[in-house]
Amino acid sequence: MALRVQKYGGTSVADIDRINHVADRVLKAHDQGDKVVVVLSAMAGVTDSLIGLAQQASNVPDKSELDVLLATGEQTTAALLAMVFKSRGYKAKSFLGFQAGIKTDKSSGKARILNIDGKNIKQFLDKRYIAVVAGFQGADEDGSITTLGRGGSDTSAVAIASSLDADVCEIFTDVDGVYTTDPRVCSTARKIHKITYDEMLEMAILGAKVLQIRSVEFAKKYNVPVHVRSSFNEEEGTMVVNESADMESVVVSGITCDMNEARITLKKVPDQPGVSAKIFTPLAEAEISVDMIIQNTRSGGETDVTFTVTKDDFDKAKQISQKVAKEIGSSDILTAEEIAKVSVIGLGMKSHSGVAATMFQALASENINIRLISTSEIRISCVILAKYAELAVRTLHSAFKLDQEK
Ligand code: ASP
Ligand code: MG
Repeated sequence: MALRVQKYGGTSVADIDRINHVADRVLKAHDQGDKVVVVLSAMAGVTDSLIGLAQQASNVPDKSELDVLLATGEQTTAALLAMVFKSRGYKAKSFLGFQAGIKTDKSSGKARILNIDGKNIKQFLDKRYIAVVAGFQGADEDGSITTLGRGGSDTSAVAIASSLDADVCEIFTDVDGVYTTDPRVCSTARKIHKITYDEMLEMAILGAKVLQIRSVEFAKKYNVPVHVRSSFNEEEGTMVVNESADMESVVVSGITCDMNEARITLKKVPDQPGVSAKIFTPLAEAEISVDMIIQNTRSGGETDVTFTVTKDDFDKAKQISQKVAKEIGSSDILTAEEIAKVSVIGLGMKSHSGVAATMFQALASENINIRLISTSEIRISCVILAKYAELAVRTLHSAFKLDQEK
């Protein structure tokens, strides 16, 4: 007997047929004696259409009312699934975020979970109820409804799993796990059986959209085992777990490609104390997060400073940089939007040398020029021209032998 939290995403609950299919799946676990908490997303497309309605009602929709509106998407699916269980003769109850004990801060649209009290749900589970929780939502200290940011139902599920000390948090989705790279780009991509929280975090940050980043941070912090798997078949998916001794033998686990960055270079910046602060403080004040930063070596008392930001922030960052460039006496600013950041990720990098060299050789063998490089303990990223992105991904995937079963 196990306690399982099962989260189903929007495509898995897109219509009543699929909701019935979810019910079948949940009942399989319930009927074998497991306690099951189901966490649901809104039906596919519903959150977006609610946002569309809000934009018709107001140019700048009030943020806290938007939360109240968006939370209805998940309220709908939770009620529908609970109805299906009841009509099949099972004991079930739907819970909104606050009824599931999810307390958040007040930041509408991107609220953080402050604490979660699983007591209410636990009482029902003990009486053999199936608990159906509306994902993506909580309430702040005043009882106002909040939402957890796009994709936030993943975080609801992990948080509930940790509060109930569940045996597993299963994320049922429309892909059957986490892949070594995007299968649409590379036909030899394979499903990863087991990956660490840290590797998964790097993948999520770099745009592999399987799990919301916060859900992975939460799972890591509270050591919640997460199983990402398909809601359309019975196959095992990918386990996201804590680092274990056997995992360092895999040097590289995955390759990602992020097309969502743009590059800005300030040319001939005076090489003096305080100049970087002058460049990056106004960007921080505008809440623009900067990813890679490269400062060239000095020549003649001057240096070039290059950095990347997301495409969304690019126009604003460019304006700010033009202004700063004038103030600090930089000669010129250059920009490039057609760039891609390809990354190799792997825990084993901590203990194996030569990963960077292999990466650079592989790119060189295809004549792909590297514009910027950055690294973390378990990641190496290179910025290249966007038109080479897919070639780079395929080349790296085979250079690190990810197409071969380990
Ligand atoms: N319905 C929300 C969204 O579309 C939350 C979720 O699906 O996880 O972002
Ligand atoms: Mg999702």
